[in-house]
Amino acid sequence: MAARLLLRSAVRAATTCRAAPIPALTRGMAVGGIPTDEEQATGLEKIVMKAAQQGADPYSMLKPKEYAGSKADPHLVPSITTKRIVGCVCEEDNTAVVWFWLHQGDAQRCPSCGSHYKLVPHELPH
Ligand SMILES: [Zn+2]
Repeated sequence: MAARLLLRSAVRAATTCRAAPIPALTRGMAVGGIPTDEEQATGLEKIVMKAAQQGADPYSMLKPKEYAGSKADPHLVPSITTKRIVGCVCEEDNTAVVWFWLHQGDAQRCPSCGSHYKLVPHELPH
């Protein structure tokens, strides 16, 4: 008799526990979800991420864009001053680099191969 009563109460307890869903255990950080890189980035990392979203490359981390080097499409050389020294590997297999000063203004030609280079102003992000 006592065993039957105990079994009945155990079955009831088991069925009522199944009916009520047990809430999943959550930690405080997981309530709002895991923060994204953009949400937790600070300082220089945040500046670089915002610039990358806008398509800019403020620290010249990406490969430079290639230009034809012609008068209509000169190589663009960024500079924070009005002149910059440029090294031109005139042909792909050359082992020597031709160095020359590039000044602000119109496009200039490499003294050896004739490729055009143009100085463009560049502002540092800080
Ligand atoms: Zn050259």
